[in-house]
Amino acid sequence: MATAQLLNSSSSFLHHRRSLSLISCTATSPITTTPPPLPRPIPATEFSARYVPFSSISSNTPTAESYSLDQVIYRSSDGGLLDVQHDMAALRRFDGQYWRALFDSRVGTTRWPHGSGVWSKKEWVLPGIHDSDIVSAFEGNSNLFWAERFGKHFLHMSDLWVKHCGISHTGSFKDLGMTVLVSQVNRLRKLNPRSIIGVGCASTGDTSAAFSAYCASAGIPSIVFLPANRISMAQLVQPIANGAFVLSIDTDFDGCMKLIKQITAELPIYLANSLNSLRLEGQKTAAIEILQQFDWEVPDWVIVPGGNLGNIYAFYKGFKMCEELGLVDRIPRLAETTFASAIQIGDPVSIERAVHALRGCEGIVEEAGEEELMDAMALADSTGMFVCPHTGVALAALMKLRRSGTIAAGDRAVVVSTAHGLKFTQAKIDYHSGRIPEMECRHANRPVTVKPEIGAVMDQLNKLLSRTR
Ligand SMILES: *Cc1c(COP(=O)(O)O)cnc(C)c1O
Repeated sequence: MATAQLLNSSSSFLHHRRSLSLISCTATSPITTTPPPLPRPIPATEFSARYVPFSSISSNTPTAESYSLDQVIYRSSDGGLLDVQHDMAALRRFDGQYWRALFDSRVGTTRWPHGSGVWSKKEWVLPGIHDSDIVSAFEGNSNLFWAERFGKHFLHMSDLWVKHCGISHTGSFKDLGMTVLVSQVNRLRKLNPRSIIGVGCASTGDTSAAFSAYCASAGIPSIVFLPANRISMAQLVQPIANGAFVLSIDTDFDGCMKLIKQITAELPIYLANSLNSLRLEGQKTAAIEILQQFDWEVPDWVIVPGGNLGNIYAFYKGFKMCEELGLVDRIPRLAETTFASAIQIGDPVSIERAVHALRGCEGIVEEAGEEELMDAMALADSTGMFVCPHTGVALAALMKLRRSGTIAAGDRAVVVSTAHGLKFTQAKIDYHSGRIPEMECRHANRPVTVKPEIGAVMDQLNKLLSRTR
């Protein structure tokens, strides 16, 4: 199986979970039981955000070019990337203590929209949007898991954590960005019903799954462009089930992308691809959430699996905002991990964003190949996890970084798990049955076929027991 395909594949898995591993809260003293006062609510109109050219952010030069978030625009005047810039002066009128208390007060509630991990940080995400325009499945608030056995056993690390961003509505972190993009589209359609008749995306996997679910939830028509005969049932099923208009086109992924760009230039169809900077605003909340789950203690490393490299920048942006607004006094180093293959994404959309992020945090890049990622995934699963291949790349890269001493045994490191492993069952089955060409599958756990007779079963169990004794 080609791993590039495997890395892009998604499946029928729909997972609903609203749980928190560590909820930071103020310890109640045994003498007084008065709860701490909740922060004064602030009207969202005190804050604002706009699009600016990303180049003005990365070069730290002020720009006269900016656009309202209510405009439909994907690129700056010179064809570059855009970025959502917040009015930091307005946000700075409240100190770090204030923001920490505000965010902590919203965790785990059912209050609309703050019960969502993304919208609990609404003032930092899309401050201007009306609560009733928000399209949310209460995404975020994902589990931060102490990977004790994997860390100690395979890495000699005792402070290794996995942020399970894939334990989410459609099974990947793409939900975090899509709630923001679709909410803004929902707002634009209410402001002017003719402005956007639908939303389009060309993606084989997690993006189209998140995209079609959020559009369906808001009743917005969604159109998915997919390369015919190149994607699995698992990748198709979420958009189909969510009622997307699925166009199967006799071309490859790049061909679909080119067509959808032409179409969105002609028709009032909004483009939901990865250059869209709105999505990063939602994704950055996962970084804030990590700090919050550690009671605002900063980990040493955060390891992020990369593809088009938007998410690495989103994490950087989330951490950086927390530092700039005084919630923490430093930021973690980021390690961006990539899949090494001849057929990987050759031209990541967000490369400039990633370069800026890595420069700003003494970040590093590490890669892993197909066999390394499959082995790492199997080892992680053998300690009770169930990770996706992207997370396998991150874990394999982490093993290399430990071997080279770049990441030390005592460091606190967080691996970002980007999708749910249940989206990738075929890859795991292939590995465990040793069916992957030119791969040793050295951690395969093959099921044993046995006759329905006590003697035969006993023989097998005796063999097992003599091995473990
Ligand atoms: C989209 C995706 C990535 C890559 O994210 P980028 O922002 O493109 O770098 C990694 N893992 C999974 C599971 C994804 O769906």
